[in-house]
Formats: sequence, structure tokens, C-alpha cells
Amino acid sequence: MALDGPAERRDEAQAAMGNGNGVAPPPLRPAGRPSGAPACADRRLRLNPNMEHKPQDYSDVRGEYAPAVYSALERHLPPSVLDANREIKLQLMREVLGHYWPHGERNKVQRHREYRQRILNHYKSAAGSWYKRAQLVGQEPLHKELYKMRPSSFFLPTFLEAIRTNTEESFRSIMTEPVPGVYSFAMLQPNFCEMLLQEVENFEKWVHTMKFKIMRPNTMNKYGAVLDDFGLEVMLNQFMEQFIAPMSTVLYPEVGGGTLDTHHAFVVEYGKDRDVELGFHVDDSEVTLNVCLGKQFSGGELYFRGIRCENHVNSETQHEEMFDYSHVPGRAVLHRGRHRHGARPTSSGLRINLLLWCRREMKKYQKDFSGWCGECKREKKERQIHAVKATKLAFLRGAGGATI
Ligand SMILES: [Zn+2]
Repeated sequence: MALDGPAERRDEAQAAMGNGNGVAPPPLRPAGRPSGAPACADRRLRLNPNMEHKPQDYSDVRGEYAPAVYSALERHLPPSVLDANREIKLQLMREVLGHYWPHGERNKVQRHREYRQRILNHYKSAAGSWYKRAQLVGQEPLHKELYKMRPSSFFLPTFLEAIRTNTEESFRSIMTEPVPGVYSFAMLQPNFCEMLLQEVENFEKWVHTMKFKIMRPNTMNKYGAVLDDFGLEVMLNQFMEQFIAPMSTVLYPEVGGGTLDTHHAFVVEYGKDRDVELGFHVDDSEVTLNVCLGKQFSGGELYFRGIRCENHVNSETQHEEMFDYSHVPGRAVLHRGRHRHGARPTSSGLRINLLLWCRREMKKYQKDFSGWCGECKREKKERQIHAVKATKLAFLRGAGGATI
């Protein structure tokens, strides 16, 4: 299929708004010295995270930044500060973040936090302890069992067994890889899909009744809902950490598949009176999980067109990079966010998919794309061929010269 336009980047609708999931990572610069830190300490952040260091728990920290930001940033702290107590580290990280994170951006994140709180105050989450305290009368979640991770009722036994075994071989034994980097496998229990569909419907009904203006999942979908906004964030974070990260660690090491630390989870809806198709784009994620939840539909195939870095996002597709995938309810597709793709029109019925964008807060530190961008790789190969040819030519000329 010819690409009829440049590949867009499908960002979070509130990427502009910022949200608890995706905040601008701090740039790599020396940070100010926190009072209490050793005076002589080198306060330069590390370029590469110290993956052997286990960050402290910041889940109780309230304020402008999501706890995951602190956990991710702690691995970049200079060695001299790593063993300092939590308060000192927190203070240092707050200073770094406060210094480099633009004020406007912080306001947006604050607004999004308030937005989410407004929803949660009414659409009571079964997940948080505040649920018991909430006095406001609002809509109850339909399936409270969705708000807590229950692997055996969410996932198929074959998938759970592969994760439990936790080897590349076990993952590949349940997957197909029709083109390099795109994996497809049966993942979710039909009952889980059904419950999640009903929960989303229940939430949307409430939104409609309340005339509440909700944020759509991203800049390209007009229909659908952000699951993290109405109480599913904790469960979905476990979903990522326990059931996606093991796979991405071995399948996508070059994009930091082993250090995913935040997510953006949403459902998209296609069909009559919904979005019809989705243009050609890349996701704002390192790794994307896309699972069809149902219902009945025809069309809506997902088409893939090769992995590209920012510089090559609109370069031509090579024949071997083309792949079309037809959705099957309960079945997942896993791919890099930078794998260019789009969705063909859903010609009849209603199709609802669960999307989990898995991210790394520290991705800005990655500068080298040559290991994964299809076009960078092709160019590198061409340069090598050219260099070999030039060497051969020079050799032949030299050899020829010698015989004359
Ligand atoms: Zn490239």
C-alpha cells in the first residue's frame, strides 16, 4: 500500500496536557547541590542508568511528579549520592526536575491530575483505599474485580505458562513473528475482554449522563477512553511490569524493553458512529501492546510499514517490511512504538481494542538509532557495500598499475 501522507506521531491527547504517565525527563546536566549532600560529591547525573541499583520506593510521595519519575531518575544519580538517605535523594531530584521542567508543563500536569481526581471522586475506583472514604455519590464501577490484578482470570493459561517460564524460547513458543519485530499471540480470557468492554461502556454512560467532558486517548482518536483516568492505573501498571516487561526485555532490548517504567493505557473504538480508520503513524511509546477486545466487525486490519527513527519516519517502505494483520478478539500484537503502522477502515460492526503504550521516562538519553531503524540500517549497509567496492577498485587499480 502506498503511503498517502507523512507518518504522524500519535501522541497522548494530553501529552500536551502532560499526565502522570508521561512527563518531560530532565536533561542531562549537572544538578544543583542539595543541602545535606556531601559537599565534595560529584553531582553530575549518570548518562546510563545504574540498572544494578534498586531505587527506593517513592509511591507515597505526593506532589508535582509521579513516583515513577523519581524511581527512574534515581538510577541516574551520581554514585556518591546513591546511598544517601531517601530525603536527600528526593530533594536533589526535586531540584533537578524543578530546574529543568518548564513551568507551563508543570501546570498542565497539575491540571490533568485535577481532572483525573474529579473523575475518581465520582466514578469510584475499587482500587484505592480512598474508595472507602469517598462520600460523594457517583457511579459504581461495574466490575470491581477488574481493578485488581488477577492473572488467572485475566490471561489464558498458555500465556501465563510462557511468562512463568520466562525465557525467550517460552515466549516464542506461543507467538508468531510475521515480520521482524511484530509479535502476535493469544493473551486474554474472553471473559476479561467482555468485562473490560462492559466497564468502558459503563464509564462512558456515566460520562454521558454527567455531561462530563472527557479527554480522548490521543491526538488521532476521537472515540475511546483512557483507562488510567478512571481507576485502572495501578492494575495496568502491574499488567505492564509483570506481563509485558518480561517479553520486551528479551525481544526489544535496543529500545530499553527491560527498563519500561510508565504507561498510557486506553481503548479505541472503530465502526459506524466511531472512528473509521487510523492514519499512518508511530506511537509515543517504546513498546506498544494492542489487543482486540471485540466485538463483531469486519475490516480494521492493522498494517505495518517498517521501524523508523525520527529522521527517517517518512522514508520509503521496503517490500519485506510490509505486513497486514487481521484482529482476533483476545489476541495481542506487540511492536515497537517506532514501528510505523495504521488501521484500515472497519467496514461494519464495532471493533474495540485495548492499547498499552509502554514507556521509559529516560528515553531522551537514547541517541543512537542505528541498531533498530530500518532505514538507518539500510543506509549503513549501503555505505559498507560502497566502501568495499571502493576498496576493491583501489586495489584493482593498484594491481593494474603494477603490471604495466
Ligand atoms: Zn533512521
